[in-house]
Amino acid sequence: MAFLTLSHVGKTYGKGDTAVHALQDVNFTVEKGEFVAIVGASGSGKSTLLHLIGGADRGDGDITLEDDNIFSMKDKEQAVFRRRKVGFVFQEYNLIPILTVEENIEIPVRLDGKKMQQEYLEKLLNILGLTDRRGHLPEQLSGGQKQRVAIGRALANHPSLILADEPTGNLDKQNGMEIMTLLMQSVKQFSQTLLLVTHDPVIAGMADRIITLSDGKIQSDVKVKHTLSGQVLAHDMPDSDDMSRLSEGMELSSDQSVLSRKGGKNG
Ligand code: ADP
Ligand code: MG
Repeated sequence: MAFLTLSHVGKTYGKGDTAVHALQDVNFTVEKGEFVAIVGASGSGKSTLLHLIGGADRGDGDITLEDDNIFSMKDKEQAVFRRRKVGFVFQEYNLIPILTVEENIEIPVRLDGKKMQQEYLEKLLNILGLTDRRGHLPEQLSGGQKQRVAIGRALANHPSLILADEPTGNLDKQNGMEIMTLLMQSVKQFSQTLLLVTHDPVIAGMADRIITLSDGKIQSDVKVKHTLSGQVLAHDMPDSDDMSRLSEGMELSSDQSVLSRKGGKNG
């Protein structure tokens, strides 16, 4: 059985004349450890798709993650499912302003009435390059640092699935690439599955697979071929300009790991 299965998934907002069919008959499966990029024009249903998969909303059809059928859970079960199995990273960092870096990262674990294992917290802070910022408040951080805190929070409960909605949307190119490299290496290190919405063809090219949405439907679902050196071999990106940006991005991603540059272990 696949790690994640969507079958005949739909979502309609509103009723009658004002109804918006945000998703219609979406079907796909994702294997454990896969990195899937979700692309498509604004309003094509990308965020709605992530919300449904993450159990933040309900729709038609069925979504199963491992043994859980997400739509058939009660609200309380869904809340626990979200906290334990899913890590969300948004374009807006959604940090709590009165909590420190460390406290923001610990939120999902605290909400579960537990305390974060010290060793894991240290490891995360180290990987994210936030050890010396652990006591700072969000307002004392740069955009890239805030997004790293949000990634830490997403990873805090060891979720098996990471959902990221344009996580680099508010960052400049260099910080965006650094966040992507970090996210990819973290999910690899912790054997997590990553579904990421992006507008950036370079970032989409870093994925194993690209799903394109159009008007709430899957327009295409293609595997990205990477060579051993990390270059993209073949890809259905529209023009050669994009292809060259794509290979630039790949070189960046296959560059010396951010993990080892930041002094982390087992890059
Ligand atoms: P994307 O993330 O690809 O830009 P969304 O999933 O946010 O697209 O939106 C898909 C469609 O659903 C759009 O037409 C949007 O206006 C509509 N939509 C999204 N959220 C809501 C909502 N809460 N209420 C009504 N319509 C919504
Ligand atoms: Mg969106």
